[in-house]
Amino acid sequence: MAATAKNGAIAPAQFPPPVDAVAEFVAAPEAGEDERIEVGVAIVGGGPGGLAAANRLLQLLAEDPELLEQLGEVPVAIVEKGKVCGAHNLSGSVMKPGPLKELFPDFDPKANPAVYTEVEDDAGVWLRNDKKSLTLKPTPPNFANKGNWVISISQLCRWMADQAEEAGAYVLTETAAQKLLVDGEQVVGIVTGDKGRGKEGEELGTFEPGMEVHAKATVLAEGNWGHLTGTAVKRFNLAEGKQPPTWEIGAKEVWKVKKPFGKVVHTFGWPASPRKKDAMAGGGWIYPMGEDQVSIGYVVPLHTPDATVSVHDLLQTFKSHPYVKDVLEGGERVAWGAKAIQAGGLLSQPKLTVPGAVIVGEGAGMVDMARLKGVHLAIAAGKIAGEQIYQQLKAGSNDFSGYERAIEDSLVGKTLREVQSNRGLLDSHGLTVGAALSGLDFVTKGKLPPGKPTLHLDKEVAVAVPDKPISDLYPQPDGKYYFDKLSSVFITGNATRDDAPNHIRIEKRVPRQVAEAWKWMCPAGVYEIEDDQPKEGYVDVTVNYTNCVQCGAITARGGRLTPPEGGDGPAYQVV
Ligand SMILES: Cc1cc2nc3c(=O)[nH]c(=O)nc-3n(C[C@H](O)[C@H](O)[C@H](O)COP(=O)(O)OP(=O)(O)OC[C@H]3O[C@@H](n4cnc5c(N)ncnc54)[C@H](O)[C@@H]3O)c2cc1C
Ligand code: SF4
Repeated sequence: MAATAKNGAIAPAQFPPPVDAVAEFVAAPEAGEDERIEVGVAIVGGGPGGLAAANRLLQLLAEDPELLEQLGEVPVAIVEKGKVCGAHNLSGSVMKPGPLKELFPDFDPKANPAVYTEVEDDAGVWLRNDKKSLTLKPTPPNFANKGNWVISISQLCRWMADQAEEAGAYVLTETAAQKLLVDGEQVVGIVTGDKGRGKEGEELGTFEPGMEVHAKATVLAEGNWGHLTGTAVKRFNLAEGKQPPTWEIGAKEVWKVKKPFGKVVHTFGWPASPRKKDAMAGGGWIYPMGEDQVSIGYVVPLHTPDATVSVHDLLQTFKSHPYVKDVLEGGERVAWGAKAIQAGGLLSQPKLTVPGAVIVGEGAGMVDMARLKGVHLAIAAGKIAGEQIYQQLKAGSNDFSGYERAIEDSLVGKTLREVQSNRGLLDSHGLTVGAALSGLDFVTKGKLPPGKPTLHLDKEVAVAVPDKPISDLYPQPDGKYYFDKLSSVFITGNATRDDAPNHIRIEKRVPRQVAEAWKWMCPAGVYEIEDDQPKEGYVDVTVNYTNCVQCGAITARGGRLTPPEGGDGPAYQVV
């Protein structure tokens, strides 16, 4: 029987998922020459980081026909599990445009469908309670966004993938990278996942086995929950001496609205609890997407002790505030999505290279959590990875350790150093004091307050349903303004086969507290506790895995998401 805290709270970490990443997801090469795919550089993940790496490499190879030829028929391959690049990508998204413009000097925001608004005004708003709000003057520096662009990340990824394909990349969509191919102490590629297996893993008529993809260099650009990144970190002990990773989760809606909304707004305060012990330091956003659409969203940490914290429902609650209602009034929801965010930054950043491979983007904590911005850092890191890999392949080497130093000296390293205490300060001091201290940290570029905060694994925080749970605030769904989880998943175009095997690993019999935390946490309603289960003690968790939008939160909170069959999951269009 697991140890229980005084108030009955139990940590999900006491019920580890049945998975051994290194044993299951690392393979030695064994396919013969005619049974494998040979590529020059294999890029896992067609998000902004992976696509920036592909595009930069191809720009350099276009000037170097000799190396291009040496890399063979497929110099650069991008392996993406979504139906298309962009289908699994979700972001706010206000982007700092610098790195994208550096990568594509001719990029024209006015002519590109991924860019909706060039930001002219911004605000930081404190939602003091369910009715009152206060706009801070001047806008706090971390909420300053003038000159940035509001984009759709799912559209930007589609566009960047087209550029890469035109430049000669082989874009392998609907394909999950399932295993890391390791020869001795060297990464030599990946193995793609099987397709066409049934519920019990049996081969269906449509079965296609996964393939070994052999590469001279492998780029892991998997984003927040990094299936192979996490595996590489364990296999090569890349996180030694680092603090544990920590995550947050965000849910987003795009609304067609009646009147234009002219500024980028970040909110803090209500409906999140300001009390330190609730560890709920989160906030909301409202971003204009052109004249007639807005993006709204809400973000909370994944280590809240109240088991009923649900980002899906906090977003619905956020919409009930008069400040937000005024923007959405008379409008219509057109898109929804949810995703976890790596929030540990530099404090939990693993080593970025192993022989044969580099880690790019959010999978390596490259997110500025003080500003909620990771797209530009992923693009900057991808560009650097492309350059470093090019230089080393040109020199006949696969030692990419120069990438680590180049990142440190770049915008990515500088930004992450300056905001490294942000998350930890909010966690250790609660929303109000934490926000003040992280503001001080921000303006002094990480110099004050002295010392570094301590991060904890999200799954080690004990959870329980308190006497006054936050769920008391959640509004009833009406299908017009407030929505339930299933109708939200429905509009993602989720395409997981009903007879696919379960890709979510959790311990299925756990104390009710842990089951409740998973049930509320999941934005897609995957975890259920049936009515016939006991009110206390151990319960069976039903896993409706075909609803999963692959947000990654369960990996932070005591389970393990593995990539389902390529092509499954959401088909995000504008989030
Ligand atoms: C709610 C929310 C709001 C945000 N708001 C902003 C914002 O306003 N501005 C901003 O700059 N940043 C924002 N961010 C952060 C930003 O979106 C990310 O940091 C950025 O997208 C990271 O890029 P990436 O390329 O590293 O990873 P991702 O964008 O996550 O892309 C990774 C890709 O890899 C694919 N993949 C993963 N594993 C595999 C595998 N094993 N096999 C095949 N394919 C795989 C995924 O399907 C995905 O397409 C936000 C994030 C969230 C979640
Ligand atoms: S089941 Fe899927 S959508 Fe739900 S929390 Fe886990 S990863 Fe996210």
